[in-house]
Amino acid sequence: MADEISKAQVAQPGGDTIFGKIIRKEIPAKIIYEDDQCIAFHDIAPQAPVHFLVVPKKPIAQLASTEDSDKHLFGHLMLVGKKCADDLNLKDGYRIVLNEGRHGGQSVYHIHLHVLGGRQMEWPPG
Ligand code: AMP
Repeated sequence: MADEISKAQVAQPGGDTIFGKIIRKEIPAKIIYEDDQCIAFHDIAPQAPVHFLVVPKKPIAQLASTEDSDKHLFGHLMLVGKKCADDLNLKDGYRIVLNEGRHGGQSVYHIHLHVLGGRQMEWPPG
């Protein structure tokens, strides 16, 4: 079983996360973009030549805990993903992934988009 999936088997929502520490600049990250609503930084264990995360500053644990009032925020996250992908020259396309809960393979309970590119993506995902 892949390391990330092993972590996802035991990860639980609730409390501060590693992404909260990155947002507060308590630990370093390779930041690509930041504004008042979100931050984008390179994944520490990239699964593609380009692999970054787009994370809202609002500490939403997962999709299940989002509210109707978050819909503008989610549109913003997608557009920031697109902007960063353009800036990183992913001109042949990319994949945006949201891992939701245990079966989705979520290991960090601070909601985030993965943006992966720089190679041909396969389908179906594992
Ligand atoms: P997920 O499994 O969908 O919750 O994704 C969590 C992602 O966070 C994984 O791809 C990890 O490699 C990544 N990650 C964990 N810690 C860090 C960190 N300190 N900096 C950047 N990415 C991280």
